[in-house]
Amino acid sequence: MSNRIEFTRSPFIKNALKSRYPQLAVFIVMLIGYIFAILAGLIGTPVGSRNFSIVFVWIAWWAILILVAVPFFGRGWCAVCPIPLPGEWLQRGAILRPERSGAKSKGRGLNLRWPKSLRNIWMQNISFLLLALFSSVLLTTPNITSIVLAAMLFAAIGLSMVFERRAFCRYLCPVGGFIGLYSQTAPIELRIKNKQVCVTCEGKPCYNGASTLGFPLRGLRDTPPFGKRGLLDSPLPRRTLGLRSANSGYGCPWDVFPGGLTKNTYCGLCMECIRTCPHDNIAINLRPFSADLAKPSTRIDEAFKAFIMLGSAMIYAGVLLGPWGALKDAAYNVGTSAWFTYAVVFLAIIFVILPGFFTLGILKTKSVLSLKQRFASLATALIPLGLMFWVAFSLSFVLTNATYIFASLSDPLGLGWNLFGTANAAWQPMLISVLAPAQTLALVGGLIWSARTAQKAASEIKTSSIPVIIFCFAATLVMLWLLL
Ligand code: SF4
Ligand code: SF4
Ligand code: SF4
Repeated sequence: MSNRIEFTRSPFIKNALKSRYPQLAVFIVMLIGYIFAILAGLIGTPVGSRNFSIVFVWIAWWAILILVAVPFFGRGWCAVCPIPLPGEWLQRGAILRPERSGAKSKGRGLNLRWPKSLRNIWMQNISFLLLALFSSVLLTTPNITSIVLAAMLFAAIGLSMVFERRAFCRYLCPVGGFIGLYSQTAPIELRIKNKQVCVTCEGKPCYNGASTLGFPLRGLRDTPPFGKRGLLDSPLPRRTLGLRSANSGYGCPWDVFPGGLTKNTYCGLCMECIRTCPHDNIAINLRPFSADLAKPSTRIDEAFKAFIMLGSAMIYAGVLLGPWGALKDAAYNVGTSAWFTYAVVFLAIIFVILPGFFTLGILKTKSVLSLKQRFASLATALIPLGLMFWVAFSLSFVLTNATYIFASLSDPLGLGWNLFGTANAAWQPMLISVLAPAQTLALVGGLIWSARTAQKAASEIKTSSIPVIIFCFAATLVMLWLLL
């Protein structure tokens, strides 16, 4: 851990993270913005470039997410994302911590365990692909964007009412899937400080939750002498009963045991375990980039996520930024035979062509592991490559369209308002002279990064990295051709 700097050593940062109020304030602003984006798409102008829902979601939010939040803060967006909030508040029957809501707040919903057979990211892979196949319409049509935003909100509420914790985030969210994948490259992590402290920790409140007594919430809150007319049901103030604890809180909403965290993928940085751990054993660290990739994944669903993201970046670059009008038309005209052909080719690139070439490359490499295990482990090298493909693609997309943000700020619904005097800001691409060098730098940097990751993954499983490096080199050449 010597190459880590612990942010939470600072009492200011630790207290700010332990308190629920700063995060709640950000949540409320985000939720208002999210609901406004839904309404703007439904009641505002149908012209995408003039509507808040398109401009703020697909240009401003996307730029911040892919160029700043994911590369530098990993799942930082999930820490402030409003989508799971209404469902979580309903599920808990509280907006703040358990001690504030009291024993009367039992929460609602069935609190079922998520089915074992679905405890993987295949549903996230499918939900992302569904959005990707309709992306040309989604990115340009405000009311479709609104419907998708609302559907995500209601799906999160529905799943919170049936399953325990944040099932939508963990298993279904199309955005959360790729943020989780790329969060492994970020220089930020949440980890325990001392493993031994966790081994001897009673009740594991970071996973099970801690009541005002410091005992696990689950199972005990309804049982005498705590609940059901016990201490927790007393009309006397809890402070008087000595029931307040600085560590009350909920068990990990992402169904992760923080004591066993070794990578960022499934930790939503919700900060709940910082609040519940009675031993102050959770830290937020600054660390080297891509530290999680030193230990390659062995999961095939995660390997395919890497292919889906890599292939989608290449296809988007061709469809949205390329000169091929017929391709654009095919992607836009959903339901036509041209669109079905586009969809088949899209899926073939992602599930057959890219993984096929990759498999052919590693087929003859020597290893004691099976081909499937090698495939999953070596696909780790595609994570930095895919991230930098998305950065290069997004630079182009965002800088070309960024001036719409100024106009939309003044007239978010396209109804002729001019709130800040920028409603008539003329469209012009920004920083056009630095675009090509910045994209080249991103792509070449991504290639070097993925080659180093391939070498580490290959040495971990004792095989050759050369075929993977050649694959990454070929993919980078295609992306350079598409973008420049
Ligand atoms: S997984 Fe999706 S819904 Fe959940 S916090 Fe992250 S982005 Fe938001
Ligand atoms: S992180 Fe804290 S609460 Fe969780 S097991 Fe370790 S010491 Fe206990
Ligand atoms: S409780 Fe801790 S481990 Fe679980 S998602 Fe929140 S921050 Fe991550």
